[in-house]
Amino acid sequence: MSKQFDVVVIGGGPGGYIAAIRAAQLGMNVACIDEWKNDKGGPAPGGTCTNVGCIPSKALLQSSEHFEHANKHFADHGITATGVKMDVSKMVARKDSVVKQNNDGILYLFKKNKVSFFHGRGSFVKAAADGGYEIKVAGATEETLVGKQIIIATGSNARALPGAEFDEVNILSNDGALRIGAVPKKLALIGSGVIGLEMGSVWRRLGAEVTVLEGLPTFLGAVDEQIAKEAKKAFDKQGLKIELGVKVGEIKNSKKGVSIAYTNSKGEAQTLDADKLIISIGRVPNTIGLNAESVGLQLDERGAIAVDGDCKTNLPGVWAVGDVVRGPMLAHKAEEEGVAVAERMAGQHGHVNFNTIPWVIYTSPEIAWVGRTEQQLKADGVKYKAGTFPFLANGRARALGDTTGMVKFLADAVTDEILGVHMVGPQVSELIAEAVVAMEFKASAEDIARICHAHPSLSEATKEAALAVDKRTLNF
Ligand SMILES: Cc1cc2nc3c(=O)[nH]c(=O)nc-3n(C[C@H](O)[C@H](O)[C@H](O)COP(=O)(O)OP(=O)(O)OC[C@H]3O[C@@H](n4cnc5c(N)ncnc54)[C@H](O)[C@@H]3O)c2cc1C
Repeated sequence: MSKQFDVVVIGGGPGGYIAAIRAAQLGMNVACIDEWKNDKGGPAPGGTCTNVGCIPSKALLQSSEHFEHANKHFADHGITATGVKMDVSKMVARKDSVVKQNNDGILYLFKKNKVSFFHGRGSFVKAAADGGYEIKVAGATEETLVGKQIIIATGSNARALPGAEFDEVNILSNDGALRIGAVPKKLALIGSGVIGLEMGSVWRRLGAEVTVLEGLPTFLGAVDEQIAKEAKKAFDKQGLKIELGVKVGEIKNSKKGVSIAYTNSKGEAQTLDADKLIISIGRVPNTIGLNAESVGLQLDERGAIAVDGDCKTNLPGVWAVGDVVRGPMLAHKAEEEGVAVAERMAGQHGHVNFNTIPWVIYTSPEIAWVGRTEQQLKADGVKYKAGTFPFLANGRARALGDTTGMVKFLADAVTDEILGVHMVGPQVSELIAEAVVAMEFKASAEDIARICHAHPSLSEATKEAALAVDKRTLNF
């Protein structure tokens, strides 16, 4: 006997579980299927983000930052900390418990919102006789669900490098990178994107000699150039070696470690020997096991599920959100799409503003931005004004002992509307929210400049950068 639902969501990551909750809030009878297993074989909803992405990486970043502070920065405050040691297995166990709290939290939210959860792999069987689709759940038991509407939120997987398959022992994806049991002496990374920089930072802080190999000639090409340069300076100072413009050749994996042959930007042949190699060269949309072909679901040229601006697929009543569709692979983008789709299904007008999706890299210094970069505005032929303010001139940053970086505003030269805000420095992952709100409400730089900000706070750097657009900073 099949079970009938208004909506069946396949995938319980940030895109799927949030869509399920919002649809249930709107009065629909909802099922959510997720196949992720914890180490005991039980359900672990939350997807990549909760299990091997956003949450565990931030837990390790926090632990390693404490370690670095105790070792390198406590002395500045007059605190003597000798014999500081890192118990890596305890750090990893703490990370696992943070993950579990999040998994359990989602299961609780499903109960609270009366979402029926099914643990197993969901796949299309066929279009149902009286509308909707039949979905098989293959888990500990097998079930058949019928959903009048379907939301696919099956996420993405780490992209492998041909010739260097992940063994999660020496050659690691994000999954293995979050489970390393002891600090490697030498750690190599291929790819200097968000994931590479965050993982590299964790293990560098714990004492690994980290080298990042990047194929592109520019560092963090998507980031505003001035901000990327400032961040690179800080990473160089910390001893994070980043080689740009390399061409990776043969990778040999043996019991002793990994040997990576590459050509550097000058065309010289090099070899990098490391105990572990993390490959972080992007992610591929995941449609494995969905049996999408059986119902004629269309994919695009990247293998992502093809959707329109409203997340509708080519099949009536079938929607797709998150990493498995076009757009930035970010948890909050997946969530926003999940909410918007649930609201559209309920006849409302859910909307995702792609121009105000914030980006954050949780290194130290943190990097965060929203809107267009200076190089994008130039390419688009937009006349703009820029204003920057360094954390060096911010009282709270001085008190914290962390004055690296700046806030930068880009505003329309005529209307003063904020077109982009770019930050590198302490706690900018939190500061960026103000810029997102401002841009969402189409604020001008002057609007921010005229708002009272608490003193002393890092947010005063945001106000001052907005003042700088009009060349009237007060503290610099
Ligand atoms: C190391 C790392 C750090 C990251 N840090 C950040 C960050 O700080 N901030 C940020 O915004 N983003 C971050 N991301 C990206 C973020 O994790 C993803 O953008 C986000 O998880 C996408 O959500 P999703 O719901 O689309 O897919 P996912 O989170 O991948 O969830 C998909 C779920 O569907 C399940 N599934 C797949 N196929 C089936 C099937 N057929 N049946 C049943 N279940 C299925 C999977 O098991 C999984 O649980 C990070 C990623 C990584 C790897």
